[in-house]
Amino acid sequence: MTYRHAPHGKASIDKKKAKMPKYVYMFSEGDKDQKDLLGGKGANLAEMTRLGLPVPPGFTITTDACRAYLHDGVVPPELAVQVTTALRRVEEDLGRQLGDAEDPLLVSVRSGAKFSMPGMMETVLNIGLNDQSVEGLAKASGDERFAWDSYRRLIQMFGKTVLDIEGEHFSSALDAKKLEKGVKLDYELDVDALKELVDQYKQIVKEHAGIDFPQDPRTQLDMASEAVFRSWNTERAHIYRRREKIPHDLGTAVNVCTMVFGNMGETSGTGVCFTRDPSTGHSGVYGDYLVNAQGEDVVAGIRNTLSLADLKNIDPESYRELRAAMRKLETHYRDLCDIEFTIERGKLWLLQTRVGKRTAAAAFRVASQLVDEKLITLDEALTRVTGEQLTKLMFPQFATDVERQLLTKAMPASPGAAVGGIVFDNDEAVSRAAEGQKVILVRRETNPDDLPGMVAADGVLTARGGKTSHAAVVARGMGKTCVCGAEELEVDAEARTLTVNRDGKQIVLHSGDVIAVDGTTGEVFLGEVPVVDSPVMTYLRRGLDEALYRAEDADTRELVASVHRLMRHADERRRLRVRANADNPDDARHAIHRGAEGIGLCRTEHMFLGERKQFVQDLILAQTDEEREQALAALLPLQKSDFVKMLETMDGKSMTVRLIDPPLHEFLPDLTELSVKVALDRERGTLDPADEKLLAVVRKNHEANPMLGLRGVRLLLTLPGLIELQVRAIAEAAVERLRAGGSPQPEIMIPLVGSVRELQIARERAEKVLAEVSEQSGYKLDFPIGCMIELPRAAISADTIAEEADFFSFGTNDLTQTTWGFSRDDVEGVFFGHYMDAGIFGTSPFETIDERGVGRLMETGAKRARKTKADMKLGVCGEHGGDPDSIDFFHRLGISYVSCSPFRVPVARLEAGRAAVING
Ligand code: PEP
Ligand code: MG
Repeated sequence: MTYRHAPHGKASIDKKKAKMPKYVYMFSEGDKDQKDLLGGKGANLAEMTRLGLPVPPGFTITTDACRAYLHDGVVPPELAVQVTTALRRVEEDLGRQLGDAEDPLLVSVRSGAKFSMPGMMETVLNIGLNDQSVEGLAKASGDERFAWDSYRRLIQMFGKTVLDIEGEHFSSALDAKKLEKGVKLDYELDVDALKELVDQYKQIVKEHAGIDFPQDPRTQLDMASEAVFRSWNTERAHIYRRREKIPHDLGTAVNVCTMVFGNMGETSGTGVCFTRDPSTGHSGVYGDYLVNAQGEDVVAGIRNTLSLADLKNIDPESYRELRAAMRKLETHYRDLCDIEFTIERGKLWLLQTRVGKRTAAAAFRVASQLVDEKLITLDEALTRVTGEQLTKLMFPQFATDVERQLLTKAMPASPGAAVGGIVFDNDEAVSRAAEGQKVILVRRETNPDDLPGMVAADGVLTARGGKTSHAAVVARGMGKTCVCGAEELEVDAEARTLTVNRDGKQIVLHSGDVIAVDGTTGEVFLGEVPVVDSPVMTYLRRGLDEALYRAEDADTRELVASVHRLMRHADERRRLRVRANADNPDDARHAIHRGAEGIGLCRTEHMFLGERKQFVQDLILAQTDEEREQALAALLPLQKSDFVKMLETMDGKSMTVRLIDPPLHEFLPDLTELSVKVALDRERGTLDPADEKLLAVVRKNHEANPMLGLRGVRLLLTLPGLIELQVRAIAEAAVERLRAGGSPQPEIMIPLVGSVRELQIARERAEKVLAEVSEQSGYKLDFPIGCMIELPRAAISADTIAEEADFFSFGTNDLTQTTWGFSRDDVEGVFFGHYMDAGIFGTSPFETIDERGVGRLMETGAKRARKTKADMKLGVCGEHGGDPDSIDFFHRLGISYVSCSPFRVPVARLEAGRAAVING
């Protein structure tokens, strides 16, 4: 269209040429670093070609072409031209032409995205065969049966994957043919039978796709390539990408590769091999080989495979060549590689290689082994393992080699494997646990009242809520297994039943029935499933010596030693400090054992639950100064003793105590329940006037959006005496610890600050109390006073707020909810799935920091804070503090420390080390 107006002449033509996007790369043109453009498979084929390894000639159609196709709905016209050129180059190299009637060149078409992905189109082999070239192949190969079998396979694969015909039509025709001929196995069918099958298959194509099977080889190639593009958007591919956090807009590449045949008799075959054992990491000769077979036969498991050692006897020359290629690839990639190969009449061909997938345990072992072998540095070794892999190694896991009945699969909110009888309320959880039973607390959703039940339970299962729901956050904090948002479940706490509606069937479970909850996968099973312990957890909790001592075998010892080596290196390299979110001595101890350097968030509202809730309620409901004083006086010793214990546990380490931040409704009776009670009591004439008074206060304080209501500093400033109470408790506890010879390091943190004035007032009141206690005790108590940055206004005005703050801690949970304007307790289970499908989020912004939105506010906050105070300490204490991707961002932002649940402390240490190595 554009050249209609373009001036004539050479210059303009050259310009036009220069603009033509390059959609096709010969294997000899690319390299391994071009995965974005050529996909994983294409980039590695190019790399092997560059290395001079025997790769059949071919070319890769880029992901750019796929994206253009997905965007415009048509194949870009330049592509057809470039494919012609590339194809002719292959034809010239080999001296044969695609689909030639005498001696045909045949090709395979395979998808190959940046990340290997199930759900994409399967490979189509033997493209180029038609009614004429099949005869040519028969002659050239001297094997008529092989030629016709190849042709029938092409029509079957093409029909199924390119034309979307149900595979069953082809397989039933094949079965019927075997029955008719009285044979059992595919390869027992003779030439005539295969010719008949080809006719039948063509008929099936015509009937179900409404077209004749394309005889033109180039049409076959183009249709197959377009089908690969289309397969990017299959439902399975979408689901997989969502789960694996792979962006939906990458597109896939297409690899067109000359066919080589492993099914050309006894001197041919096909196989796969690994340069090291992918489950232990040990180097050696690992692989399978199948004589006289094509790739799909290996997967189909029709015949028993041979080992590579057997290949050494069958074909020593190919074996030697393969071993040399394996070593070359491992040295070149400096990592474990897996390789697909084919031997065609004694000639070895490599069809694919990639840095091999491996178990989490092997990842640590291989990284450490490669360091020992001086193939990689310790820094590089850190980039070869991930926090996610470490997490997998930390949890006890369910055995998978046993029979299991799946009840439901929901949000894996807090990893682990828990088995127990179901209970529906706290009392039952506590009493059964006290009898030594293992229980799973099942709730529609949890609230702070459920804490005793959660503590008593081995696992928690909820029908509502997402990864930052109360159940999820608290369970993670406790390192307790939790699955939440299981919408298929109906929880009737009153009837004490759990009803599961699945696949049209209904199962009703009663209190005490046993279930198994897998917080790593989100699966819930009926009945008992055996659990296996994790040696890495033993290491993290009890140290290297004990873990080595307890290890059952050499492999386990090697694993533990590798994890230790990489953790130690991460600690040396990381710039981010790692603290924990903990509000009781047990959690604090766990955190320290796992390497926490302090507490970044002690949520004091968690100290006011259970029986103590009444005192807070009294404080809120107090009408007179006297009533208020009484409530405060009752709370002081309790708070003080909490802090004494915490400061003792954290002796010598920083402990950020956040003053109370409860949504008010969590400390008041439920409005509806109380209204009903008062109404009923009134009718019965049994109404207690205190209840009526309480109802009036509850009604007055009722909030439609409690998370945006009288919370944090707002409550502290409006409820007289509360700041003073908490600061006094901290100060007096510190004095007690000092008297005992300890080294308490509390830091006082004010939540939900939006304006500098709020902080100023809170600070003045806190300082006054500190001064008083200093005066009384004779100890200097000048603890740092800082605030959370968890509102957009706070981030934007951080330079001003910094004037009153000794430190900041980003509360990324609230900052996310207030930046997006959605309530974290309500939205995750409700519409996040749709948002991820629509590509609005890649991952939940409550899980991984939303860099472009919330992240920018953090960046502004950090810059402004340091403009006012250059060395201001900046922490992060929201859930993102333990998330691998977010930690990388926090490192780049120059944050001083992250604070996360005790369980995630090792993951944060490792990821902080990785971030330092990767970003410098
Ligand atoms: C936060 O908002 O990120 C935070 C840590 O505070 P909380 O989750 O207790 O509101
Ligand atoms: Mg908060």
